Amino acid sequence: MLIKIHELELHPIDFEEEFRPGAIDFGPDLRPSGLHTDGRAELVEEHRGKRQKIKDIRLNGELTTSFELACARCLEPVVQDVARKFDLLYRPQGADAGPEERSVTAAEAEVSYYQGEGLLLEEALREQVLLAVPLKVICREDCKGLCPHCGKNLNVEQCSCAEPVDDPRWSALKDIRSKLDH
Ligand SMILES: [Zn+2]
Ligand SMILES: [Zn+2]
Repeated sequence: MLIKIHELELHPIDFEEEFRPGAIDFGPDLRPSGLHTDGRAELVEEHRGKRQKIKDIRLNGELTTSFELACARCLEPVVQDVARKFDLLYRPQGADAGPEERSVTAAEAEVSYYQGEGLLLEEALREQVLLAVPLKVICREDCKGLCPHCGKNLNVEQCSCAEPVDDPRWSALKDIRSKLDH
């Protein structure tokens, strides 16, 4: 859905969209289920100097989705729910390129840019979802992970690889330490 600037000049746009899985490309590692979003886009005019008027798009709303990530320990899929509110400002590409326009304040740090005649809603949502994705998930706190020797999922089955045996050199060291402690 392209939110067109010339339509925003007439009125704000309320949107409510349901995207099917695959409708937005999140890259190969993320397999989201559908995505629901609703909110409003409106025009915000910034006056710079006497003549220049910048037409920003304010995008305000929320999204919900869920997707599968691989558990960092056992690689089994973990379903992750995402619910996120957003309030974003998009400036036309190039609006901040001039020499006088470096005065981006802290409050404006989250400004993004749109190109051409408007903002692609899918693009904005894609960014928001990627920001919400944790770097690492585990399927459960006590996930045993994969056996480093044979690769079996230790949550599912025991493997016959030898249990790590105490190295005699370390036990000797432990003996010394316990003597020192007493
Ligand atoms: Zn796991
Ligand atoms: Zn093993």
